[in-house]
Amino acid sequence: MANDYYGTLGVRRDASQDEIKKAYRRLARELHPDVNPDPATQERFKEITQAYEVLSDPNKRQMYDLGADPFGGAGAGAGAGGFGAGFPFSDIMDAFFGAAGGGQRGPRSRARRGRNATIRVELDLKETAFGTTRELVVDTAVLCEVCSGAGTAPGTHPDTCDMCSGRGEISQVTRSFLGQVMTSRPCPQCGGFGSIIRHPCQECSGDGRVRTRRTIKVRIPAGVEDGTHIQLAGEGEVGPGGGPPGDLFLEIVERPHEIFERRGDDLHCTVQIPMTAAALGTILTVETLDGAEEIDVRPGTQSGQVISMFGRGVQRLNESGRGDLLIHVNVETPNKLEPAQEELLRELAKLRGEERPPGKFAPGQQGFFSRLRDAFNGR
Ligand SMILES: [Zn+2]
Ligand SMILES: [Zn+2]
Repeated sequence: MANDYYGTLGVRRDASQDEIKKAYRRLARELHPDVNPDPATQERFKEITQAYEVLSDPNKRQMYDLGADPFGGAGAGAGAGGFGAGFPFSDIMDAFFGAAGGGQRGPRSRARRGRNATIRVELDLKETAFGTTRELVVDTAVLCEVCSGAGTAPGTHPDTCDMCSGRGEISQVTRSFLGQVMTSRPCPQCGGFGSIIRHPCQECSGDGRVRTRRTIKVRIPAGVEDGTHIQLAGEGEVGPGGGPPGDLFLEIVERPHEIFERRGDDLHCTVQIPMTAAALGTILTVETLDGAEEIDVRPGTQSGQVISMFGRGVQRLNESGRGDLLIHVNVETPNKLEPAQEELLRELAKLRGEERPPGKFAPGQQGFFSRLRDAFNGR
């Protein structure tokens, strides 16, 4: 005999059906995977469930008493071959579907992993460039403190489902030309959990978690940009039945800056300077992320010329160094000239021989077509 089912349940060989049932319930309460998920206990739970399955069925019990073990394996006994009929033989399953053919057997756990959540965090350029710390208020689910996630009222336990005897599934053996085939489906009474919560926790209505509002402090690294996702592992809501929490994702939304346009780690801006300053050169005070700084505009600066300020852009994400600040110069041509100014300019034009300048084409790089090409390349 491969298995001692009476010994497993701790009952005498002449125990009544009622005694067997009581013994099983008592053991199932302490050994149920929902109560005690460690592997040794689960193995023991399987054993008592198997014993109960045989001993609670008068037909199976009778055959077992005669020396046949439905779970005993192929070589369990001389008579075993003859007792195939009507038994959910484990090795029939194995023969047709492979050892793992039935998928994961046994009742499924009430505990499931919590969902991931995403929240949007709006930041301005200075915050994305240098990083920041934010306190975020999130609506989430946390473990119910009354039942610690079990979902049962204090002092109560889930009852073993009597329809599936705690197995979470209903098996059916059918005959086919191949022999016997066992099919299983989730138990409709307990939903596959193998147990039923008759006294749910009042606090969480049996869900094992309660909804709440939580404030978390998050550190946002320098260099994030619009659309960056930051994963905060385990900061999502806890799962039903005390399952582990999901992750919280922060989606960065960068507010456009009124002066700077960000392209990668570089910043671009445009300054307007008068025609005279562009011709004579000047020193400009410009605003940067690090405060006001002076830049040198060389005499003869052209409209469209770019002045680079190295390392005045955005901090590179997870790297050292910063991007650049690129200042595009726009030369303003004066309009509404006063008579005296117009006279001066005419004088200048005469001195430079520019009273009737030829319509020279600009070099290729500054032409219309290259600007069109740049637009296509997203520059
Ligand atoms: Zn609860
Ligand atoms: Zn059931």
